[in-house]
Amino acid sequence: MKNILSGIKKADNPLIYVAFVLAVTVTYSCLYNLQLFRNQYPPEYFMVLVLISFARDAVIWYIAGLNRWVFLVFAPVMFAFGAGLDYFVRTLKLTIGIGAFELLFQTNVKEAAGVINPALIGHIILGIVISAVFIAVRFYIGGVRGMRMKAVLLAIFILPVVLGRMPEDGLKEVKYGKGGTTERGLHVMPEKILENFYHYGLNQYRLKKLFDARKAAPAPEAAYGGGDETVVFILTDALRPDHMQINGYGRETTPNMVSEGFISFADMYACETSTTRSVPCLMTRASRKEPMTAYLSEPSILSMFKAAGFDTAWISSQGAISTADTGPSVVASDADYTFFNDGVNKISEHIYDSDLLPELDKFLSRPNPKKAVVLHLNGSHWDYHTRYSPEQKKWSPECTGWVYDCTLEEVVNAYDNTVAATDEFTAAVVERLKDKNALIFFSSDHGQFLGEHGRRIHSHELLEFKEVSVVPFAVWLSGSMKKNPVFAALEKNKDKITSHDSIFHSITDCSGLSSPLIDKDLSVCSESLVSLPEEY
Ligand SMILES: [Zn+2]
Repeated sequence: MKNILSGIKKADNPLIYVAFVLAVTVTYSCLYNLQLFRNQYPPEYFMVLVLISFARDAVIWYIAGLNRWVFLVFAPVMFAFGAGLDYFVRTLKLTIGIGAFELLFQTNVKEAAGVINPALIGHIILGIVISAVFIAVRFYIGGVRGMRMKAVLLAIFILPVVLGRMPEDGLKEVKYGKGGTTERGLHVMPEKILENFYHYGLNQYRLKKLFDARKAAPAPEAAYGGGDETVVFILTDALRPDHMQINGYGRETTPNMVSEGFISFADMYACETSTTRSVPCLMTRASRKEPMTAYLSEPSILSMFKAAGFDTAWISSQGAISTADTGPSVVASDADYTFFNDGVNKISEHIYDSDLLPELDKFLSRPNPKKAVVLHLNGSHWDYHTRYSPEQKKWSPECTGWVYDCTLEEVVNAYDNTVAATDEFTAAVVERLKDKNALIFFSSDHGQFLGEHGRRIHSHELLEFKEVSVVPFAVWLSGSMKKNPVFAALEKNKDKITSHDSIFHSITDCSGLSSPLIDKDLSVCSESLVSLPEEY
């Protein structure tokens, strides 16, 4: 046996190297690509997809393995990422696009803690251990000698990829099920991981340049001729309108919004289905039909109020998402006053949205009586049971573990508890504004899956699903504001279908700002508000 092994080592036989490449390829692809195929393609394509993935993966492993030191670094990184992403593919039905990488790199630690769990960590460790075995083998066997031999083998490995191109192009047109996604090219790891590393890096570089240009841009043209006024925008996370009592949900999830007379609108369609993409889009004049980075050259709601002489604030439960270089951080930086609850100064275990109320009070006590503030909540974002205090719990049993380990009943109970907590928070804001000339706008960045299509939680690029694409929109006016003609317009418009595009124009227009940048056809306070066609 020992002789055979040392024979292998000394032989430097290219066939042994080829066998090694095939072993890595088959192992990797079977571990991390199969579920991706099951989620995205009809079963009759499964075998052909597996063969295509073998062909494409083999080229990468062939090249990466030629130098054993390169392989030493490359293999564990690809196995770790493959394992982590595969875990989200299995549980969240994630697709391996650029959005998955945004999720990995931009989500703050507190938010990530919601999805990091022992099963995920175990999955990643197992991947690294498997890669370690291959690394040991790679250091034991010989490689391929001579450029000519390397080139010939490369050509042999590339041939099946070229031959596989035809069935693959046909697959791009395949639609999976009713309301399912139209696949935009075949996702295969580790190829997709490398591609997204590149795209993510490039995007970050471009964003940085656009961030700087935005900072240097002049203030937008906006004016306000009225008296004292307080404008509050409660922007919650992952809240579905159909789980709100005010929209007819069977449970008493929003008793305060009902009793305080919030005017709740019909369906509003979201810009995108993740926080980092949706928040900057809805907070600025950018339209959801424009490219993702359009917000960078558009004024935000806060920059409009600032230009019109208001004191402005961004008060957020979502710490790092507002401070790292993300879309939300760009719009947050337009405010005069910012507060990010990153939990550093907190003794309690959880960050609750109600922690923002003392900060709101601080802002409201500042001298300028014209105020505009965005309260960015965690709201109904996973991990649900950490979003409300034990006293706020209305429904049980609740889900306290990983979302896919709970029953749907537990998930919905915990979710509905978050809705009730957000309603209590909203009531506390109303209480502070009742005697003022004030308006409250209420919406969410996107919705949430609660078991539909086998999905739970949410991720980016899922606009075809109404569960994550439809958001609530509601407006509250203080007593003195009800004399204002905007009140009648709101009542008249509430059954019209709108989108996040309306938020910028509505908040500024309803509050009495005037600007050539405001489009009345998109304002819920204008007679000319255009109702969108039903999309779901
Ligand atoms: Zn969100």
